[in-house]
Amino acid sequence: MDRYRVKPGSRVDLSQQDPNDKSAFPGGKREGRQQLLELNQRLEELQELLYAEHKQKVLIVLQAMDTGGKDGTIRHVFEGVNPQGVRVASFKKPTPEELDHDFLWRVYKQVPARGEIVIFNRSHYEDVLVVRVHGLAPKDLWSKRYDHINDFERILADQGTTILKFFLHIDIHEQKERLQARLDEPKKHWKFNPQDLEERKLWPKYIAAYEDAISKTSTDWAPWYVVPANRKWYRNLVVGTVIVETLQALNMRYPEPGFDPTAIHIE
Ligand code: AMP
Ligand code: MG
Repeated sequence: MDRYRVKPGSRVDLSQQDPNDKSAFPGGKREGRQQLLELNQRLEELQELLYAEHKQKVLIVLQAMDTGGKDGTIRHVFEGVNPQGVRVASFKKPTPEELDHDFLWRVYKQVPARGEIVIFNRSHYEDVLVVRVHGLAPKDLWSKRYDHINDFERILADQGTTILKFFLHIDIHEQKERLQARLDEPKKHWKFNPQDLEERKLWPKYIAAYEDAISKTSTDWAPWYVVPANRKWYRNLVVGTVIVETLQALNMRYPEPGFDPTAIHIE
Protein backbone atom coordinates (compact mmCIF):
# COMPACT_ATOMS: atom_id res chain seq x y z
CA MET A 1 0.00 0.00 0.00
CA ASP A 2 3.10 2.19 0.06
CA ARG A 3 2.25 3.40 -3.43
CA TYR A 4 -0.58 5.47 -1.98
CA ARG A 5 1.26 6.83 1.02
CA VAL A 6 2.38 10.43 0.68
CA LYS A 7 6.06 10.73 1.56
CA PRO A 8 6.75 13.43 4.15
CA GLY A 9 7.97 16.60 2.49
CA SER A 10 6.79 15.62 -0.99
CA ARG A 11 4.37 17.72 -2.99
CA VAL A 12 1.09 16.07 -3.98
CA ASP A 13 -0.34 16.76 -7.42
CA LEU A 14 -3.80 15.19 -7.43
CA SER A 15 -4.09 15.49 -11.21
CA GLN A 16 -1.29 12.93 -11.37
CA GLN A 17 -3.14 10.44 -9.14
CA ASP A 18 -5.57 8.28 -11.08
CA PRO A 19 -8.88 7.85 -9.19
CA ASN A 20 -9.57 4.79 -11.37
CA ASP A 21 -6.33 3.04 -10.52
CA LYS A 22 -6.73 -0.61 -9.53
CA SER A 23 -3.16 -1.77 -9.80
CA ALA A 24 -2.90 -3.15 -6.26
CA PHE A 25 -5.93 -5.46 -6.68
CA PRO A 26 -6.22 -6.21 -10.38
CA GLY A 27 -8.67 -9.07 -9.72
CA GLY A 28 -11.83 -7.02 -10.19
CA LYS A 29 -15.01 -6.39 -8.30
CA ARG A 30 -16.14 -9.92 -7.53
CA GLU A 31 -12.81 -11.08 -6.24
CA GLY A 32 -12.51 -7.76 -4.43
CA ARG A 33 -15.72 -8.41 -2.48
CA GLN A 34 -14.30 -11.73 -1.30
CA GLN A 35 -11.02 -10.11 -0.29
CA LEU A 36 -12.93 -7.50 1.68
CA LEU A 37 -14.77 -10.20 3.64
CA GLU A 38 -11.41 -11.64 4.67
CA LEU A 39 -10.20 -8.19 5.68
CA ASN A 40 -13.36 -7.68 7.75
CA GLN A 41 -12.60 -10.85 9.69
CA ARG A 42 -8.98 -9.95 10.32
CA LEU A 43 -10.01 -6.48 11.41
CA GLU A 44 -12.55 -7.96 13.82
CA GLU A 45 -9.83 -10.08 15.44
CA LEU A 46 -7.33 -7.24 15.57
CA GLN A 47 -9.89 -4.91 17.10
CA GLU A 48 -10.62 -7.43 19.82
CA LEU A 49 -6.90 -7.80 20.51
CA LEU A 50 -6.47 -4.02 20.63
CA TYR A 51 -9.32 -3.80 23.12
CA ALA A 52 -8.01 -6.66 25.26
CA GLU A 53 -4.44 -5.41 25.33
CA HIS A 54 -5.69 -1.94 26.30
CA LYS A 55 -2.46 -0.19 25.35
CA GLN A 56 -2.69 1.24 21.85
CA LYS A 57 -4.93 3.96 20.50
CA VAL A 58 -5.88 4.19 16.84
CA LEU A 59 -7.14 7.25 15.01
CA ILE A 60 -8.40 7.02 11.44
CA VAL A 61 -9.12 10.26 9.58
CA LEU A 62 -11.39 10.19 6.52
CA GLN A 63 -11.58 13.16 4.21
CA ALA A 64 -13.10 13.50 0.75
CA MET A 65 -15.04 15.80 -1.52
CA ASP A 66 -18.85 15.55 -1.24
CA THR A 67 -20.00 12.08 -2.39
CA GLY A 68 -16.40 10.84 -2.04
CA GLY A 69 -17.54 7.82 -0.02
CA LYS A 70 -16.65 8.46 3.61
CA ASP A 71 -19.87 6.90 4.93
CA GLY A 72 -19.68 3.91 2.61
CA THR A 73 -16.06 3.27 3.55
CA ILE A 74 -16.90 3.18 7.23
CA ARG A 75 -19.86 0.88 6.63
CA HIS A 76 -17.99 -1.59 4.44
CA VAL A 77 -14.52 -1.66 5.97
CA PHE A 78 -15.81 -2.05 9.53
CA GLU A 79 -18.57 -4.51 8.70
CA GLY A 80 -18.62 -7.22 11.34
CA VAL A 81 -16.36 -5.37 13.75
CA ASN A 82 -17.67 -5.15 17.30
CA PRO A 83 -19.43 -1.77 17.56
CA GLN A 84 -18.32 -1.50 21.19
CA GLY A 85 -14.69 -1.12 20.19
CA VAL A 86 -15.05 1.41 17.42
CA ARG A 87 -16.38 4.94 17.62
CA VAL A 88 -17.19 7.29 14.77
CA ALA A 89 -16.88 11.04 15.33
CA SER A 90 -18.47 13.21 12.63
CA PHE A 91 -17.46 16.82 12.37
CA LYS A 92 -20.15 19.15 11.06
CA LYS A 93 -20.35 22.89 10.82
CA PRO A 94 -19.05 24.11 14.20
CA THR A 95 -21.62 25.22 16.78
CA PRO A 96 -21.41 28.73 18.23
CA GLU A 97 -19.84 27.23 21.34
CA GLU A 98 -17.23 25.39 19.28
CA LEU A 99 -16.46 28.56 17.34
CA ASP A 100 -15.77 30.35 20.61
CA HIS A 101 -12.83 27.98 21.17
CA ASP A 102 -9.76 27.20 19.10
CA PHE A 103 -10.30 24.79 16.23
CA LEU A 104 -8.79 21.80 18.00
CA TRP A 105 -10.98 22.05 21.09
CA ARG A 106 -13.81 19.92 19.73
CA VAL A 107 -11.36 17.54 18.12
CA TYR A 108 -9.35 16.80 21.25
CA LYS A 109 -12.49 15.67 23.02
CA GLN A 110 -12.98 12.92 20.45
CA VAL A 111 -9.50 11.36 20.21
CA PRO A 112 -9.20 7.64 21.02
CA ALA A 113 -8.51 6.30 24.49
CA ARG A 114 -6.43 3.15 25.14
CA GLY A 115 -7.86 0.13 23.40
CA GLU A 116 -10.08 2.22 21.17
CA ILE A 117 -10.36 2.84 17.43
CA VAL A 118 -11.88 6.19 16.52
CA ILE A 119 -12.84 7.11 12.98
CA PHE A 120 -13.06 10.79 12.13
CA ASN A 121 -15.71 11.37 9.46
CA ARG A 122 -14.32 14.79 8.47
CA SER A 123 -11.93 16.26 10.97
CA HIS A 124 -9.70 19.16 12.00
CA TYR A 125 -8.68 19.26 8.33
CA GLU A 126 -11.95 21.04 7.54
CA ASP A 127 -10.32 24.03 9.22
CA VAL A 128 -7.79 24.28 6.37
CA LEU A 129 -10.25 23.14 3.67
CA VAL A 130 -13.79 24.55 3.79
CA VAL A 131 -12.54 27.36 6.00
CA ARG A 132 -9.88 28.29 3.47
CA VAL A 133 -12.10 27.90 0.39
CA HIS A 134 -14.89 30.01 1.88
CA GLY A 135 -12.67 32.46 3.71
CA LEU A 136 -14.33 31.60 7.04
CA ALA A 137 -11.17 32.68 8.83
CA PRO A 138 -8.45 35.10 7.71
CA LYS A 139 -5.51 33.61 5.84
CA ASP A 140 -2.97 34.55 8.50
CA LEU A 141 -4.98 32.37 10.88
CA TRP A 142 -5.70 29.26 8.82
CA SER A 143 -2.24 29.23 7.26
CA LYS A 144 -0.71 28.62 10.70
CA ARG A 145 -2.93 25.62 11.22
CA TYR A 146 -0.81 23.20 9.20
CA ASP A 147 1.90 23.54 11.84
CA HIS A 148 -0.67 23.40 14.62
CA ILE A 149 -2.09 20.20 13.15
CA ASN A 150 1.32 18.57 12.82
CA ASP A 151 2.13 19.43 16.44
CA PHE A 152 -1.27 18.22 17.64
CA GLU A 153 -0.91 14.91 15.84
CA ARG A 154 2.63 14.62 17.16
CA ILE A 155 1.36 14.91 20.72
CA LEU A 156 -1.16 12.14 20.08
CA ALA A 157 1.47 9.93 18.42
CA ASP A 158 3.98 10.46 21.23
CA GLN A 159 1.33 9.27 23.67
CA GLY A 160 0.77 6.02 21.80
CA THR A 161 -1.78 6.89 19.13
CA THR A 162 -1.38 5.36 15.72
CA ILE A 163 -2.75 7.79 13.15
CA LEU A 164 -3.83 6.98 9.59
CA LYS A 165 -5.29 9.59 7.27
CA PHE A 166 -7.15 8.79 4.06
CA PHE A 167 -8.14 11.13 1.26
CA LEU A 168 -10.74 9.33 -0.86
CA HIS A 169 -9.92 10.58 -4.31
CA ILE A 170 -12.78 10.75 -6.86
CA ASP A 171 -12.87 12.91 -9.96
CA ILE A 172 -15.40 15.55 -10.92
CA HIS A 173 -17.18 13.24 -13.40
CA GLU A 174 -17.68 10.59 -10.76
CA GLN A 175 -19.11 13.21 -8.42
CA LYS A 176 -21.65 14.18 -11.08
CA GLU A 177 -22.83 10.58 -11.35
CA ARG A 178 -23.10 10.18 -7.61
CA LEU A 179 -25.01 13.44 -7.17
CA GLN A 180 -27.32 12.43 -10.01
CA ALA A 181 -27.93 9.07 -8.32
CA ARG A 182 -29.01 10.95 -5.20
CA LEU A 183 -31.63 12.72 -7.31
CA ASP A 184 -32.73 9.64 -9.23
CA GLU A 185 -33.20 7.28 -6.30
CA PRO A 186 -35.91 8.25 -3.81
CA LYS A 187 -34.07 6.44 -1.02
CA LYS A 188 -31.08 8.67 -1.60
CA HIS A 189 -32.92 11.99 -1.65
CA TRP A 190 -32.10 12.58 2.01
CA LYS A 191 -28.44 12.56 1.10
CA PHE A 192 -28.82 15.30 -1.48
CA ASN A 193 -28.08 18.79 -0.35
CA PRO A 194 -28.60 21.59 -2.92
CA GLN A 195 -25.63 23.33 -1.29
CA ASP A 196 -23.46 20.51 -2.67
CA LEU A 197 -23.93 22.04 -6.14
CA GLU A 198 -22.46 25.32 -4.91
CA GLU A 199 -19.52 23.43 -3.43
CA ARG A 200 -19.08 21.57 -6.71
CA LYS A 201 -18.45 24.88 -8.47
CA LEU A 202 -15.53 25.37 -6.12
CA TRP A 203 -13.95 22.04 -7.06
CA PRO A 204 -10.58 23.49 -8.24
CA LYS A 205 -10.27 25.53 -5.06
CA TYR A 206 -10.95 22.47 -2.94
CA ILE A 207 -8.40 20.45 -4.88
CA ALA A 208 -5.78 23.16 -4.31
CA ALA A 209 -6.65 23.24 -0.61
CA TYR A 210 -6.40 19.44 -0.37
CA GLU A 211 -3.06 19.38 -2.16
CA ASP A 212 -1.65 21.90 0.28
CA ALA A 213 -3.10 20.17 3.33
CA ILE A 214 -1.93 16.72 2.33
CA SER A 215 1.53 17.92 1.27
CA LYS A 216 2.11 19.90 4.46
CA THR A 217 0.77 17.36 6.93
CA SER A 218 1.83 13.94 5.71
CA THR A 219 4.35 13.03 8.40
CA ASP A 220 6.10 9.92 9.65
CA TRP A 221 3.82 9.94 12.69
CA ALA A 222 0.58 10.66 10.78
CA PRO A 223 0.82 9.74 7.10
CA TRP A 224 -1.74 10.55 4.42
CA TYR A 225 -2.89 8.00 1.89
CA VAL A 226 -4.41 9.21 -1.38
CA VAL A 227 -6.89 6.42 -2.19
CA PRO A 228 -8.21 5.90 -5.74
CA ALA A 229 -11.92 6.04 -4.96
CA ASN A 230 -13.91 6.07 -8.19
CA ARG A 231 -14.41 2.34 -7.70
CA LYS A 232 -16.00 1.72 -4.33
CA TRP A 233 -14.81 -1.88 -3.97
CA TYR A 234 -11.23 -0.83 -4.67
CA ARG A 235 -11.37 2.08 -2.26
CA ASN A 236 -12.64 -0.25 0.48
CA LEU A 237 -9.85 -2.75 -0.16
CA VAL A 238 -7.12 -0.12 -0.02
CA VAL A 239 -8.39 1.47 3.19
CA GLY A 240 -9.06 -1.91 4.80
CA THR A 241 -5.65 -3.28 3.87
CA VAL A 242 -3.76 -0.25 5.20
CA ILE A 243 -5.64 -0.49 8.51
CA VAL A 244 -5.16 -4.24 8.88
CA GLU A 245 -1.46 -4.12 7.99
CA THR A 246 -0.89 -1.23 10.38
CA LEU A 247 -2.65 -2.99 13.24
CA GLN A 248 -0.72 -6.18 12.59
CA ALA A 249 2.57 -4.31 12.77
CA LEU A 250 1.71 -3.18 16.30
CA ASN A 251 2.56 -6.70 17.55
CA MET A 252 -0.20 -6.68 20.10
CA ARG A 253 -0.57 -9.43 22.70
CA TYR A 254 -3.44 -10.63 24.83
CA PRO A 255 -2.60 -9.69 28.43
CA GLU A 256 -1.22 -12.43 30.69
CA PRO A 257 -3.88 -13.48 33.21
CA GLY A 258 -3.12 -12.52 36.81
CA PHE A 259 -4.07 -16.08 37.86
CA ASP A 260 -3.43 -19.67 36.84
CA PRO A 261 -6.49 -20.73 34.81
CA THR A 262 -5.66 -24.45 35.22
CA ALA A 263 -5.68 -24.10 39.00
CA ILE A 264 -9.20 -22.80 39.13
CA HIS A 265 -12.13 -25.20 39.49
CA ILE A 266 -15.62 -23.88 39.10
CA GLU A 267 -18.11 -25.79 41.29
P1 AMP B 1 -21.81 16.27 5.89
O1 AMP B 1 -20.50 15.61 6.20
O2 AMP B 1 -22.30 16.05 4.51
O3 AMP B 1 -22.84 15.96 6.93
O4 AMP B 1 -21.58 17.85 5.99
C1 AMP B 1 -20.94 18.44 7.06
C2 AMP B 1 -20.65 19.87 6.66
O5 AMP B 1 -19.99 20.53 7.73
C3 AMP B 1 -19.75 19.98 5.45
O6 AMP B 1 -20.26 20.90 4.55
C4 AMP B 1 -18.44 20.49 6.05
O7 AMP B 1 -17.68 21.26 5.15
C5 AMP B 1 -18.94 21.30 7.22
N1 AMP B 1 -17.88 21.49 8.21
C6 AMP B 1 -17.22 20.54 8.90
N2 AMP B 1 -16.26 21.09 9.68
C7 AMP B 1 -16.32 22.43 9.46
C8 AMP B 1 -15.59 23.55 9.95
N3 AMP B 1 -14.59 23.40 10.83
N4 AMP B 1 -15.93 24.78 9.51
C9 AMP B 1 -16.94 24.93 8.63
N5 AMP B 1 -17.67 23.92 8.12
C10 AMP B 1 -17.37 22.68 8.52
MG1 MG C 1 -22.69 16.31 2.47
